[in-house]
Amino acid sequence: MTFLVLWQQKIVTNWQWGAGFGQTALGFSLSTIPIEPVFDAFASGMIFIGAAYCYSSALFEHFEARSFDRERRWFVGAYTLLLIYSIFVLDSLSYQLFLTDIAFACLIGLAFVLAIPKARRGVDKILLASVGLVVLDTVARAIYFFFFYGDLSDNFGDFVDSAYNLAVHITTITICMTFPFSALVASGMSAMDRQRQAAERDPLTGLLNRRGFEIAMTGPGGSGLREGTVLVCDIDHFKQINDTLGHATGDAVIAAIADLLRQVTDGEAVTARFGGEEFVVFLRAATASEARATGERIRQTVAEKDWRFFGITRPVTVSIGIDRVRPGEQEPYPAIARADRALYAAKAAGRNRVLEAGDDAVCNVSGRISA
Ligand code: GH3
Ligand code: MG
Ligand code: MG
Repeated sequence: MTFLVLWQQKIVTNWQWGAGFGQTALGFSLSTIPIEPVFDAFASGMIFIGAAYCYSSALFEHFEARSFDRERRWFVGAYTLLLIYSIFVLDSLSYQLFLTDIAFACLIGLAFVLAIPKARRGVDKILLASVGLVVLDTVARAIYFFFFYGDLSDNFGDFVDSAYNLAVHITTITICMTFPFSALVASGMSAMDRQRQAAERDPLTGLLNRRGFEIAMTGPGGSGLREGTVLVCDIDHFKQINDTLGHATGDAVIAAIADLLRQVTDGEAVTARFGGEEFVVFLRAATASEARATGERIRQTVAEKDWRFFGITRPVTVSIGIDRVRPGEQEPYPAIARADRALYAAKAAGRNRVLEAGDDAVCNVSGRISA
């Protein structure tokens, strides 16, 4: 129920956890209701395999692994036929229990094996460890009671009071309890990661937004600004693109320029979109000449791109202002403000160019504008 409520609130993305644990609960309560034992055996088998199917789906989704949906459905179909055979033809409780346990372990075991290379966070490793425990418990019980116990009645009516049923209950309320709790924690952590991503990233370009940029610049512990250089980049005459080709094309151009920024800076930089069609790039520990070279590469890459696919026949260009973070500065905004002034100087000087703040040229150009 907890999982279903979280899914309803759109916190947990998948309903399969809720369906899996719900079916398991239903399977356990079924043996406490006085119903025809053969029907009980069939219904329990179907419910537990349904639960295993849901658990494996939930695991595939959580770990973003390939889910083999078709193969798993065929597997459940084959299991159903064998279940009917073992209950209604063989009329054997021990066969039915062995079959159900092994099928349950296969479905979850598949998800377990495929998720192993994808488990990176601590909580995900704990979740997988508890899934491994469930698989181990199921296989060990199946083998022990089928091959070694020797005292298990083959009569469906004797199931409720059997040592097998007691063993299932004991392991389920002890070691297997780690499974729902680790699933809950792992899903919760994923939800928090998604929220953080949404809060710190710009949805159009996937670049950081202002808040994400600030966090990336100051470090998680507020460790102070590192050395580096800021580039502020603005698309030239962007309003014309919006006005002539529409807002959607404008958006596509913004996203394409974000891609170019990523390519040119090669993932080495902190890159953000500060609203509109203005981007800020922070190059860690870059010298002034390295930053100028990067700025020039960005300018050239944008200017040389063929924009005809976007319906734009003239070149699209950007102007860029640059300044470095000065010693003692604890936040990026003074450097951004200086780079911004250089950017406006670049606009005033004819656009499609890179200018550095602080040099006389910028001050002079700015001065001419204000005059
Ligand atoms: P300049 O060369 O001086 O930069 O001229 P410009 O036309 O590019 O002027 P400016 O940078 O002020 O243009 C900002 C425009 O960007 C105004 C606004 O309509 C548009 N804009 C802002 N955000 C978005 C967006 O998310 N999508 C689209 N398509 N347009 C946006
Ligand atoms: Mg602009
Ligand atoms: Mg602008």
